[in-house]
Amino acid sequence: MNHEEFRKNAHAAVDWVADYLQQIEKYPVKSQVAPKDIYDQIPPSPPGSGEPFEALMSDLDSIIMPGITHWQHPHFHAYFPGNSSYPSVIAEILTAGIGAQCMVWETSPAAAELEERMMEWFKEMMGLPTDWHGVIQDTASTATLTALLTAREWKTDFQSNTKGVTERKLRIYCSTETHSSAEKAVKIAGLGSENLVKIPVDGEMSMVPAALQKAIEADMAMGYTPCMVISAMGTTGTLAFDPTKQIGEICRQYNIWFHVDAAYAGSALVLPELEWLREGLELADSFVFNPHKWLFTNFDCSAYFVKDKEALIKTFEILPEYLKTKTRGQVNDYRDWGIQLGRRFRALKLWFVIRTYGVDHLRSTIRTHIGYGAWLANQIEKDSHFELLTPQKLNMVVFRYSASDKSTEELNTINESILTQINQSGKAYITHTKVNGMYGIRVVLGQTRLEKNHVKNLWGLLVKTSDESSH
Ligand SMILES: *Cc1c(COP(=O)(O)O)cnc(C)c1O
Repeated sequence: MNHEEFRKNAHAAVDWVADYLQQIEKYPVKSQVAPKDIYDQIPPSPPGSGEPFEALMSDLDSIIMPGITHWQHPHFHAYFPGNSSYPSVIAEILTAGIGAQCMVWETSPAAAELEERMMEWFKEMMGLPTDWHGVIQDTASTATLTALLTAREWKTDFQSNTKGVTERKLRIYCSTETHSSAEKAVKIAGLGSENLVKIPVDGEMSMVPAALQKAIEADMAMGYTPCMVISAMGTTGTLAFDPTKQIGEICRQYNIWFHVDAAYAGSALVLPELEWLREGLELADSFVFNPHKWLFTNFDCSAYFVKDKEALIKTFEILPEYLKTKTRGQVNDYRDWGIQLGRRFRALKLWFVIRTYGVDHLRSTIRTHIGYGAWLANQIEKDSHFELLTPQKLNMVVFRYSASDKSTEELNTINESILTQINQSGKAYITHTKVNGMYGIRVVLGQTRLEKNHVKNLWGLLVKTSDESSH
């Protein structure tokens, strides 16, 4: 493909994207294919000679698109959103075109310095502690692993990197509701998943600080070394909030690294009125949230903040001769701030998103989504056939169809069937969770293109489907 062909084909590809997003509501939200449907359509061997662009685009439509679940569909209410937006898509095209690999400052000073500024913009627009230092990671899983490795080194006088974790048995704490990335990190860090202590939660699924303190003291009495607590700001199952301030104070008391996982709900910190959300954050040693979930920025982009950047760098820096540069020490060489050496230029899409929308518009969109959550929760509370399983938090609603003459098992079966029918209809995509043994439908109202009429349609669909499923 030469320059002129690229120009022509890329314009066609952009038109394709614009058509796709404009007509996205015509697609079934959740892909309806069966296992191997797509695989079997791809030839077992690669082509010997090159094929025309038109052939690729035609196969994209006929083979690939049926196997796509449409995350940018406004009726995507499953998991957490993986939102994109037009400014973000444009920046991704430019990033690919520039094709820079941003491992150190010298390999693209603009990438490093824009990243530094974007993380400062987040601190200002979200009211985060001013003494934090930010760096972009690919995902929250990586950020939490980065935090854990740093905590491990910090707690072992920076000896584990060289000697291995030999002398002390390090203990990590999180609630029973914490995201599975915590357990994955503990396994990868070589600490052993047996040393991840799961602390009980209260009726709202938030960690019980007194139980945390008890577990820490019991561990210390047995000769363990408490190393890190992972606190959730918005759990994945029910968007529960662990009490940041109380947990942070316990961490200070026992000299434990305090990591806050705000992967999804962290985006709501853009709202100045949500003061309760910020309470105690200054006690955190590290914090992560994903602009790629609820801040209209293409996957992947995870914002990681750390208080003690020296501890972070000391954990990850490595200096072979071929990576030595003259500017070292004067600039941020982000390869020392995490696991990867090679890094994508992710700051560009944040710059495009934040500047195109402006902070005011980002705030009003998030605020609107939270309003939708309240609206849906209100419909559920008013309707005797439904009940909330946890109090509505931000823009997530966890509920079930309910009937007083039916057992938990019967209700679980009915609710599962409601969910399956809605997903098979292609009209919306929702997922579930379990709350104290009860099957709960979990709806997230945070897609970039979500509007009030979608929320009303969804409610209509839930009422109609449950009506049919319960007879
Ligand atoms: C989504 C999520 C994660 C994992 O995020 P990735 O960026 O996919 O690794 C971790 N914690 C919470 C609370 C989440 O919601």
